Amino acid sequence: MTTDQAAPALDAAQIVSGLRATLRMGRTKPAKWRLSQLHALVKLVEENEEDIYSALDSDLHKPKHESFMMELSHVTTACKYAIKNLQNWMAPKKKGVTHTTWPASAATVSEPLGVTLIISTWNFPFLLAIDPLIGAISAGCTACLKTSEVSPATSGLLARLIPKYLDAEGIQVVEGGVSVVTELLQQKWDKIFYTGNSKVGRIIMGAAAKHLTPVTLELGGKCPLYIDDTVDLQVASRRIMVGKYGNNLGQACISPDYILVEEHLAPKLIKEFRTTLVEFYGEDPSTSKDLSRIVNKNHFQRLSSLLDHPGTAEKIVHGGERDEKALYIAPTLIDDPPLDSPIMAEEIFGPLLPIITVKDVNAAVYFISDRPKPLAIYVFTNNKDSVKKFTEETSSGGLLTNDCLLQFLVPELPFGGVGESGTGSYHGKASFDTFSHHKAILNRGMGMDISTRYPPFTSKKQSM
Ligand code: NAD
Repeated sequence: MTTDQAAPALDAAQIVSGLRATLRMGRTKPAKWRLSQLHALVKLVEENEEDIYSALDSDLHKPKHESFMMELSHVTTACKYAIKNLQNWMAPKKKGVTHTTWPASAATVSEPLGVTLIISTWNFPFLLAIDPLIGAISAGCTACLKTSEVSPATSGLLARLIPKYLDAEGIQVVEGGVSVVTELLQQKWDKIFYTGNSKVGRIIMGAAAKHLTPVTLELGGKCPLYIDDTVDLQVASRRIMVGKYGNNLGQACISPDYILVEEHLAPKLIKEFRTTLVEFYGEDPSTSKDLSRIVNKNHFQRLSSLLDHPGTAEKIVHGGERDEKALYIAPTLIDDPPLDSPIMAEEIFGPLLPIITVKDVNAAVYFISDRPKPLAIYVFTNNKDSVKKFTEETSSGGLLTNDCLLQFLVPELPFGGVGESGTGSYHGKASFDTFSHHKAILNRGMGMDISTRYPPFTSKKQSM
């Protein structure tokens, strides 16, 4: 089902009440249920690999190797990591007590936030649907997963497979577009986890505010990449080009959006990028089997208009070829487009890469700090002072030196944005925490009843 029109009537209230009934029965709370669902997810991937590959191919022409690396393998790794650590995450955590509260013992006890809504997006449509679900399951929540209508093949596959493998009374899948989300948002949820653009993020947060529902917003924005002349340009170029084009043709939230480089280095860097692109994708990248396609006509036209904008079009120094029927846009390098052009004003989310020259590292830091806080900043340098400068003087969801995108694959690192790029984070323990409430418990006995805390506060008591 691809459109709202095709979607069957949705009874959102009934979905919530069903999930709440399951939660109240206590069914999702025991570790046994959580582990069974996580194991079932691993099985879902293992037994349906080929169907998942072909859905991703249908939606995005995603190469199999890329689908394996960035979607399937990440899902199984995240499940196995949660399985391994779950008992430890669930265990009460002892805390110290103060002089005034002693004798007592203190601890935090995690409890599921409750009935959760996960709204997913299309660019990694399998991974970004299941990855938050792993957190909800680990925390013992019930969940309604709303897949993206922009990736209908994967959405349909998830709607078919999830009820087959997971406990349908605790986990529901809903397909459909804006009207479906709008209806779901009328309900009272105990947590909403949304992945997508920041415009819709504001709608989600507004709806959640009515019920004081906590939200995690995994948003996007422009991720800058700074590079200086202390690095091996060939290695850097390979890592940057695969980071930009080898992940969904640049349609990734943590794809490098633009490059900041000093003027003297820019021509060498562009030359190296060109060489790498030919090495990776051949003289005619449209024949390469290793590049995804633009997800649909709307996004193709959006990217085309960024490229055709006066001031930008003249600055294309590599690529620029397009085929609307095939939803193909070649990896394209743009040398110093005007800073007020649309390509520098909005998230690109596609295979266009502006290269902006700056005077020095200070100017690069200023450039970034003067704009909305990004989801990721990439710094290619061997200069420790520069790394320190970026770490201390910029704010972003994450910062990675001398590579691209790999921060996403480290389960010990919380993944999420800050400011315009999002709020909250997940992955590993952070996923468990995102869907949990850590209840503060203070246990006191009936002994040691000190009279000085009780009125009347006589001068004798006050002097004690
Ligand atoms: P999308 O069109 O699939 O929308 C995301 C979800 O929002 C979908 O489920 C959709 O049905 C729903 N939606 C769309 N419009 C809506 C509306 N008006 N009201 C209510 N719900 C609505 O995906 P998208 O927004 O195009 O995704 C791309 C954006 O997501 C980029 O900005 C990207 O950077 C960001 N993103 C972030 C992450 C992350 O982890 N931080 C990951 C992937 C993508």
